[in-house]
Amino acid sequence: MDQPNTMTRRSFLASTSCLGAALWTARLFPLPAMAGEVASAGRVNPQPLADKGFASVRKVGDGVYATISDLSKGLETLSNGGFIVGTEAALLIEGFRTPAGASFQFAALRQVSKVPVRAALDTHYHFDHTMGNAFYGAQGIAIWAHEKTAPLMVKVYGPGQELAMAEMKAGIEKRIKDAKSETEREHAKGDLNAMKMMSESVESSVLSLPNRPLEPSKLPMTVDLGGIQAVIESYPGHTPSDLIVRVPQRNVVFPGDLLFNGLYPATVDANLSGWRKALDTFSSFDKETLFVPGHGPLCGPEGIATLRSVFDDLADQAARMYKAGIPVEEAQQRYTVPERFKGFPILAWSFCIGATIAKLYEELKTGGT
Ligand SMILES: [Zn+2]
Repeated sequence: MDQPNTMTRRSFLASTSCLGAALWTARLFPLPAMAGEVASAGRVNPQPLADKGFASVRKVGDGVYATISDLSKGLETLSNGGFIVGTEAALLIEGFRTPAGASFQFAALRQVSKVPVRAALDTHYHFDHTMGNAFYGAQGIAIWAHEKTAPLMVKVYGPGQELAMAEMKAGIEKRIKDAKSETEREHAKGDLNAMKMMSESVESSVLSLPNRPLEPSKLPMTVDLGGIQAVIESYPGHTPSDLIVRVPQRNVVFPGDLLFNGLYPATVDANLSGWRKALDTFSSFDKETLFVPGHGPLCGPEGIATLRSVFDDLADQAARMYKAGIPVEEAQQRYTVPERFKGFPILAWSFCIGATIAKLYEELKTGGT
């Protein structure tokens, strides 16, 4: 496979013309379905219940299943998800990037149980967790989400947003043209790939909004599925619309994108202090907790610890550059991935690193340090 630095301009342009570009990025970073520690602990059934390449479903506890995406084989799901099955009902987690992704997860549920589906829950509004909702809607399945999810979906992905997205793309194309260094150009190219993937996902989808908004003031909410309970909680951080699902009886947590395991987190919509506070809380959970992250392999509390240290490193580097008087635009480009995070995919430099540095600069400015 071509490495990014050996691609000609022409092959780059050809590859960015479609979703293939994002797939090309993803293929550079194959991730296993579970981290080594989890695999060796024997909690996760190594034999998938269902496997379509782009995602596989594994049993992670009695009545609890994780859907893990493999971006190197396709982008139908893109995010992870899962489902919880009791004797009376089931709860699906995530609407994924496409109806095909949601359909795959629903079919896997039907392999193990015919119980009615109480709801499908979107952990937040982002396209890779909601654009497949239409499949659930067509099955008459209620879609639950944080009360801010539907309004944010309309605002960001709704009618009339094509123009805003086209403007953003034009802005990134200009950054590629005007880049002052090869590094800056590579960062901008990655941003363009991600932007194109988002806009193409949205353009090819029917916006299917959650029809049961959950108010954070009324959470946590316990959903009894018959012999097993799911607890829905709210921790805004990655976006203003984050929900998590806990299964206390099985020590399993679905934290949505509050956990990126083994890759740099997307912070473009984030409240960093809220997010870091959520991670503090998650690290106080039982040491045997199994996390089904929004992205990346299944993990235990070590996945939370790693993401906290990614944020610490971003904060340390931002503080050093801020104190040295480096302007924010330059600091956003200058962040250096340390050796210990070298293998971590960065799906788009601006949405992950750039946004974090800008927010940290803002905190430093208002914090008066
Ligand atoms: Zn996501």
